[in-house]
Amino acid sequence: MPHYDLVIVGTGSGNSILDPRFADWKTAIVEKGTFGGTCINVGCIPTKMFVHTADVAATPSKSARLGVDEELTGVRWRDVRDRIFGRIDPIATAGAEYRRSHEDNANVDLYEGEGRFVGHKELRVSFADGRPDEVLTADRFVLAAGGRPVIPDVPGLAETGYHTSDTVMRLDELPASMVILGGGYIAAEFAHVFASFGVAVTVVNRSGALLRAEDDDVSARFTELASQRFDVRLDRKVVRARRTGGGVALDLEGPEGAETAEAEVLLVATGRRPNSDLLGLDATGVTTVDSGHVAVDEYQRTVVDGVYALGDLSSPYELKHVANHETRVVQHNLLHPDEQIAADHRFVPHAVFTAPQVASVGLTERAARERGVSFVVAKQDYAGIAYGWAMEDTTGFAKILADPATGLILGAHIIGPQASSVIQPLIQAMSFGLDARSMARGQYWIHPAMPELVENALLNLPLD
Ligand SMILES: Cc1cc2nc3c(=O)[nH]c(=O)nc-3n(C[C@H](O)[C@H](O)[C@H](O)COP(=O)(O)OP(=O)(O)OC[C@H]3O[C@@H](n4cnc5c(N)ncnc54)[C@H](O)[C@@H]3O)c2cc1C
Repeated sequence: MPHYDLVIVGTGSGNSILDPRFADWKTAIVEKGTFGGTCINVGCIPTKMFVHTADVAATPSKSARLGVDEELTGVRWRDVRDRIFGRIDPIATAGAEYRRSHEDNANVDLYEGEGRFVGHKELRVSFADGRPDEVLTADRFVLAAGGRPVIPDVPGLAETGYHTSDTVMRLDELPASMVILGGGYIAAEFAHVFASFGVAVTVVNRSGALLRAEDDDVSARFTELASQRFDVRLDRKVVRARRTGGGVALDLEGPEGAETAEAEVLLVATGRRPNSDLLGLDATGVTTVDSGHVAVDEYQRTVVDGVYALGDLSSPYELKHVANHETRVVQHNLLHPDEQIAADHRFVPHAVFTAPQVASVGLTERAARERGVSFVVAKQDYAGIAYGWAMEDTTGFAKILADPATGLILGAHIIGPQASSVIQPLIQAMSFGLDARSMARGQYWIHPAMPELVENALLNLPLD
């Protein structure tokens, strides 16, 4: 039974633990899927490469109002797909080869199999090729096993066949039509991608709004704009899925009664769940919380001494920048067990790379009300700043909540062009405790650039 100083489960963020400071540690990394994990292979990076391509494809639909007549004459789907994965796939291959080679990794063993605890700090690794299992023991473990798509319990779904975000980017042909089940960020991003490429997109959602986790004003605006672009069916229950001559059909129940959504291809994008249920955690004593995430303290420690967890497996945020931060915390705490540092989850931002983009940090207005937090709020439309005029944007806005007593920013929500970048100074202000007035007037804002949206929203806040 090989014994290690450290065993890491999962090669997404987990692979980044091992820098030269760990060169003397006898270490094993266990990976059951594609080396490199979700972000690089099936998550952030390929989706954003598709989204940028989709933004380019969608340009002609917006240029006529500027007096420029453009036409989209074709999307070479296989070329788009192969350019993206031609860049990404070699990274996974090279990453695995690097870890397999013992040149710079004299003390690292890569186990390409599925890990499951079978005893206290005992992890059994099973291999798909039928090799005998191996049981690894270690003084310390880092659990970085991520999550996977949730598949809803819909009668007929398995027999009908469906895609998830794991597979839909590798389709061989661009379908004429697609039904997307779900109304969260993954659904919103893929709806934009495929609609921009000319696919007729139907979005079916259980609740009455898309992007419901966003501030209500942002969610309402996005739902309104999405409904102009896609066939959006809200408040729908999926009764069953079935195959048709041309593809798939979802039988639905909604406010108007029974109806059907049909398309060539079905994409299920109904959320993700942590992989904690597949790790045999009970055997080693690691616990989970109600959401299924592994329970950790602020130092990323599980309840078992020497066992840490990070990323989507333990974090309710399920974002790569959070996983990266937690990785740095775990690295430090492994190396300096007597000087542990805490993870900072105070101001976690996120963006939805759809059209228009959405970005957010801190409290929504509804959350502020529910928590009884006193706040002032202001909005600024893109249509009211010079760059918004240049773009003829008529729908985007920024919304900022601030503490009336201190002027500190409590939350910021943007929907509109480049929202994911425009929000960054607000994240910085929150992280470093800069109040709205100082932020607005204590620096120059390049005129007439997009961040004037933030400057004006700050100045609109009714602060003394
Ligand atoms: C479509 C999509 C788009 C996204 N876009 C963004 C975005 O724009 N921005 C953003 O911040 N985040 C985005 N995310 C989320 C982001 O990808 C994740 O937050 C991040 O990749 C999580 O990293 P991780 O290291 O926790 O887990 P992962 O990267 O998922 O790594 C976990 C690894 O563990 C392996 N594993 C699991 N169980 C076992 C086992 N029992 N034994 C061995 N190995 C195991 C898995 O195969 C996997 O390789 C997106 C996700 C998806 C799906």
